[in-house]
Amino acid sequence: MPAIKTIGILTSGGDAPGMNAAIRAVTRSAIFSGFSVKGIYRGYRGLITNEIVDFKTQNVSNIIQMGGTILKTARCKEFQTPEGRQLAYDTLRQHGIDALVVIGGDGSLTGARIFATEFNFPIIGLPGTIDNDLYGTDKTIGYDTALNTIMECVDKIRDTATSHERLFFIEVMGRDAGFLALNGAIASGAEAAIIPEISTEVDQLAELIQNGFRKSKNSSIVLVAESPVTGGAMALAERVKNEYPGYDVRVSILGHLQRGGSPTASDRILASRLGAAAIDALLDDQRNVMIGISNDNIVYVPFSKAIKNDKPINRELLDTLRRLSI
Ligand code: ADP
Repeated sequence: MPAIKTIGILTSGGDAPGMNAAIRAVTRSAIFSGFSVKGIYRGYRGLITNEIVDFKTQNVSNIIQMGGTILKTARCKEFQTPEGRQLAYDTLRQHGIDALVVIGGDGSLTGARIFATEFNFPIIGLPGTIDNDLYGTDKTIGYDTALNTIMECVDKIRDTATSHERLFFIEVMGRDAGFLALNGAIASGAEAAIIPEISTEVDQLAELIQNGFRKSKNSSIVLVAESPVTGGAMALAERVKNEYPGYDVRVSILGHLQRGGSPTASDRILASRLGAAAIDALLDDQRNVMIGISNDNIVYVPFSKAIKNDKPINRELLDTLRRLSI
């Protein structure tokens, strides 16, 4: 394997708060270790359209506190074709880039895995997604910030729910993973969480809510993970309304505001540690791994494991939510 001199860095897929802190950490630790760094704009698309600039330490000054990603992000269909990936490879060669750090979610790391195998190209992945749905890492970059945003929003909705004695269904992101809904529900004192991992029947839910109202609660909040499995908050609310017309039901879909905002201290520290570890991994001759965190230790997770395995929900959390919502 020839020695690595120049490292390219890109962010891809859905943006997540803390991606900038990760870009900063990768850039600065790479330069610290004597590498050159190139910033690739708009994810894999920038590799095809040749949007690449030299990155110095100043390029990443004053960004640790910013949400979004200064490198921009994109979804790129062309990268899913062998022809597109060939173009991407040619661009990398043209810029003398000998290794990549890819910050993104499940899709981005799937692309990284395919590309790395196809061209025998060294890639290190960083888990950047608010969904926390990558296996092998306790947390993904952006998850904690999104969780805090959800908690703040639910606190506000609770004021209305209590004043009007309403039942609110609040839809949160998660893309087939219930981490945001479940932990968001615990953090905001919600009555229940509907997540794709666990099936919940409408009558089960109604019973839970009814019990709550009977026991002097004057509002109820249910967090619903956006997913074809749960059907989403709107559909669930319709069913509850039809079957239990006595309830004053409302829906709130938090949507994209969950992705934005300044990253929490926890996300900035996570992104900084993972970013620095990405360079350690390259120095260590690691290839095609995602850097994760497990029990506060840095771990290397092969792409195949990070992408393919479903990350399990801790059932103890469900039980805790159930017990605390009486
Ligand atoms: P995320 O990384 O947030 O999961 P996406 O699923 O949209 O976001 O994936 C981001 C990008 O990764 C896609 O636009 C595409 O360029 C690339 N990608 C995803 N899946 C594949 C695949 N099977 N083969 C090649 N590239 C892929």
